[in-house]
Amino acid sequence: MPFRQIMGHRPVLDLLARAVSRGSVPPTLIFAGPDGVGKRRTAIALAQALNCEKPETFGRPHDSDIGEEPISRHDSEIGGTPISMGNDACGRCPSCKRIARAVHADVLVVEPGDSGSIKIDQVRDAIDRAAYRPFEGRRRLVIIDGADALVGEAQNALLKTLEEPPPSSIFVLLTARPDLLLPTVRSRGHQLRFGALAESDVAAALIKEHGFSETDARAAAATSDGSIGRALEEHTEEAVEARDAATRVLQTVAASADPRRRLEGAKVLAGSGDREEVWRRLLALSSLLRDMSVLASRADEHVLANADLATELKPLLRSFDAGRTVRAFSAVDRALAAIDRNASPKIVADWLALQL
Ligand SMILES: [Zn+2]
Repeated sequence: MPFRQIMGHRPVLDLLARAVSRGSVPPTLIFAGPDGVGKRRTAIALAQALNCEKPETFGRPHDSDIGEEPISRHDSEIGGTPISMGNDACGRCPSCKRIARAVHADVLVVEPGDSGSIKIDQVRDAIDRAAYRPFEGRRRLVIIDGADALVGEAQNALLKTLEEPPPSSIFVLLTARPDLLLPTVRSRGHQLRFGALAESDVAAALIKEHGFSETDARAAAATSDGSIGRALEEHTEEAVEARDAATRVLQTVAASADPRRRLEGAKVLAGSGDREEVWRRLLALSSLLRDMSVLASRADEHVLANADLATELKPLLRSFDAGRTVRAFSAVDRALAAIDRNASPKIVADWLALQL
């Protein structure tokens, strides 16, 4: 999958595409960021861009296959002039296809085995192969997915290679926990940060690549914390249920200032009192509140994560002005933190219903 088909991360993709076109990709890269946001995809896209037989341009305005999302200011143009041209893979040539099918001889992926760790032997094998010239392509990529799972001696073996990188090989370390890498390994790599994805991007990916219906995709995205991986792990039914419950909570507390009525909202939120369930409902609540602040500011409805619920959300704005929405949003954040610290879901729900 070429850079242009990856959801989000535009500044990182721009940087990599430009480095490919200039031939200045650093010998060691560290992609740091949460699981399931596209780090491995980006590493594969980099391998394709480096080895593509018919590279294309990346960074032109409107070159994205992703959809109608407007291209934001930093990605591409000032006064209509593209400022960030780079190289992207075509996605169709034999090299691109072989890399996509994971059968290209010069793209090695090392990942934790059943034990959950990456053993010294796995790393030695990759290092040995990296010492030779690329076999079929121009550059070899060694992608270490879950680099924080490298056992200590494996990190040390890798460090020796990173100190004197073989000329045609690039090491890409992917990790959600860069702090678990040895400082010496970390200091050898050029670190790129991957943030959580926008919920609208998660939903678009679920629809486009995983055949979700719009409702299921939006619901799963709302409880995904910006991770496609997490959205796929979530049971869609539970996500849809969480978003429905969160909507009912807002409708209940919006309808009346009476504390008794608000505690009705708390009951809806607490549900069966299951911690995971309350957690999902809180994530859905914060997603809905974020959308309400978008609606209140009359910003472009394109950016709504729950665009399919706009008709349910709009009437709530009569009682939720901008100030109340922002306060509610930060209260939900505190509630999530409390659940994370093991507070009773029911007590948290009661507290939150009075804050909203
Ligand atoms: Zn190609």
